[in-house]
Amino acid sequence: MNNRKKISIIGSTGSIGTQALEVIDKLRDKFEIIALAAGSNVELLKLQAEKFRPKYIYAAKEINVEGIKTLNSLDEIASNKENDIILVACSGKVGLKPTLKAIENGINIALANKETLVMAGDIVMKKARENNVKIIPVDSEHCAIHQCIKNISQVDKLIITASGGPFLHKSAEEIKHATVKETLNHPRWNMGKKITVDSATLMNKGLEIIEAHHLFGFDYENIEVVIHPQSIVHSAIEYVDGSVIAQIGLPSMHIPIQYAITYPERFEGIKSKSFSFAEIARLDFEKPDFEKFPCIKLAYKAGKLGGTATACLNAANEEAVFAFLDRKIKVCMIYEIVRKMLDEHVLIKNPSIEEIFKVDSDVRRKTREYISSLNIK
Ligand code: MG
Repeated sequence: MNNRKKISIIGSTGSIGTQALEVIDKLRDKFEIIALAAGSNVELLKLQAEKFRPKYIYAAKEINVEGIKTLNSLDEIASNKENDIILVACSGKVGLKPTLKAIENGINIALANKETLVMAGDIVMKKARENNVKIIPVDSEHCAIHQCIKNISQVDKLIITASGGPFLHKSAEEIKHATVKETLNHPRWNMGKKITVDSATLMNKGLEIIEAHHLFGFDYENIEVVIHPQSIVHSAIEYVDGSVIAQIGLPSMHIPIQYAITYPERFEGIKSKSFSFAEIARLDFEKPDFEKFPCIKLAYKAGKLGGTATACLNAANEEAVFAFLDRKIKVCMIYEIVRKMLDEHVLIKNPSIEEIFKVDSDVRRKTREYISSLNIK
């Protein structure tokens, strides 16, 4: 009975975390939950703890559940070697430190938190190699690539698909006047607010290019983006001989989450129905319009600059997205703001983690100040 995989979830009340618990609920005999951690949603964390009975819980706010020990920090979860794997499902920079700590402790990571690699991909991947730790991507595109790759040295190119988001067929003028509600109306994926705005501007794809660069060690020239509105092909790779392998499936985050936490095994688990090519009937592909969606170009630029440029991109983007969600700026200004911050950024080529966090907070402050100075009503 006790060869169950021991797992902790950082960010159990978010979109990925709750879906991960749905997966685990179907695979109760395969998993033992060590710890569940949340930010401020203590009501939901309480319900989860009562249902799944982890050994430990942690929340950014005060929480008490009878018979379950409350921890004082995420670090305590990340340094608990009982864990076979930790699912890092929180959003934002809060995921970075516990991920590094878990890697130092030799614990495998199922990684849903983009910021970890966008902010500090070089450091994280180097540490993972040194500690022989597997980083298994949860992001559907990277999970797809992970599933396609057999021999990475024979792969020539990564092809990341993008649904195109809610603005795909809108004109630049329509995008300019898009409301928060229109922006959050994603046609394919149901996700948290921040990532849904990123999907509308295609900055999400930009962040994913940076993620792919670190995860698979590919140059930016060999990472391509293609628009694929149906979100059935989750990404593909091209081998040196021209053979292309794609991973295909219905657009549900349950599948990549389950893959990442059960890897290298596979179980029926959450699968609800069989895939039918005939039902899908057609798949469309087109080139991304870099003029209409310039954020992708910015991400390539930051990625190629390397060092702290991607942490700057991430911080400026997140602050701009928050300002948009607060209705302080229009969605089209996100690009202008991030570009300005990136242009003015003083690059550190091989930063330490402390320097990365400093860039993060400096750029955030500068971005907020700049947005206030715009004085837009
Ligand atoms: Mg994705």
